[in-house]
Amino acid sequence: MPESVNKLVDKFGRHVDYIRLSVTDRCDFRCVYCMTEDMTFLPRTQILTLEELYQIAKAFTELGVKKIRLTGGEPMVRTDVMTLIEKLGALPGIEELNLTTNGAQLDKHAPALKRAGVNRINISIDSLNAGRFKKISRVGKLEKVLAGIEAAREAGFDRIRLNSVIMRGYNEDEVISLTDYALDRDIDIAFIEEMPLGEASDHDRKETTCSNDWVKNAISQKYELINSTEQTAGPSRYAQIAGKKSRIGFISPVTHNFCEDCNRVRVTVEGRLLLCLGNEHSIDLRSILRDESSSMDDLKQAIIASMEIKPERHYFYDKEHAQPVRLMNMTGG
Ligand code: SAM
Ligand code: SF4
Repeated sequence: MPESVNKLVDKFGRHVDYIRLSVTDRCDFRCVYCMTEDMTFLPRTQILTLEELYQIAKAFTELGVKKIRLTGGEPMVRTDVMTLIEKLGALPGIEELNLTTNGAQLDKHAPALKRAGVNRINISIDSLNAGRFKKISRVGKLEKVLAGIEAAREAGFDRIRLNSVIMRGYNEDEVISLTDYALDRDIDIAFIEEMPLGEASDHDRKETTCSNDWVKNAISQKYELINSTEQTAGPSRYAQIAGKKSRIGFISPVTHNFCEDCNRVRVTVEGRLLLCLGNEHSIDLRSILRDESSSMDDLKQAIIASMEIKPERHYFYDKEHAQPVRLMNMTGG
């Protein structure tokens, strides 16, 4: 069997062809839904080196993974991350190299990212009001992110998508303005339900979580949403508006379970292969990488074996099931 055939199939018959690789747990923002204000980050010895991250990506592509998304924390704050991105862009077997970023450094780095082979870019933005943007990100500057979005548009990525987490009491009145901002620029936007990953320190998530049914209804007050039949092999369900190029995505992990089609796994920056966003099932890839007697083949065998423990689904806000204690920056969003 040629190496490019996908060898990652879990016990529910789902093929894993997508990894989200976290390159750092650190960030220059402290978004209220993602981090606490006084975060302690991992010591250097515990995080994977750039070479170790590359070896993991290589192992996955040799097992049939075609799509890698770099995330974090904020990927662009990792020292020398561009050298990793360039190497990943040249990795045989990769069809898509994508990045999720807070956009604050894109005004400097967008052209280099495009040259390095990044295909698609997701940029998080939860408010178009500078004061409110700062309140949600605790430290971020809106003008930097807006400049980053413009730089990304100029660089000519295959696709740009904005990610917005809508929360009651923070930004639920911005659904239309965020949608219009994306429509005016022919870029996509996805609304993401706030997930209960770890405890939020500034609010009770049960009170702020805003369902995507509510968001859809808010958009429908102004636009007719036409459900898209396009399959994206991801959790986003898309809609379009007549005469507009942008796609409006809805990622609804809290109110609409999408685990049936799950095609992805995550690798944390500590080298923990997380089989599910909402469960703790994982295996330790770092110990294999750092064991001198282990080979690339051992790494690949461990990844194949991990498919056995990929859970069928997550159960957010279900008392019968344990809830994740890790925050999103430790998960790799
Ligand atoms: N720093 C980058 C960014 O903000 O885009 C990449 C990492 S961030 C963890 C990835 C995505 O996760 C962002 O779009 C962010 O809004 C989202 N996110 C973080 N915590 C979340 C939570 N508790 N629920 C839902 N989405 C969350
Ligand atoms: Fe940083 Fe992204 Fe988390 Fe915000 S969502 S704190 S930008 S990692």
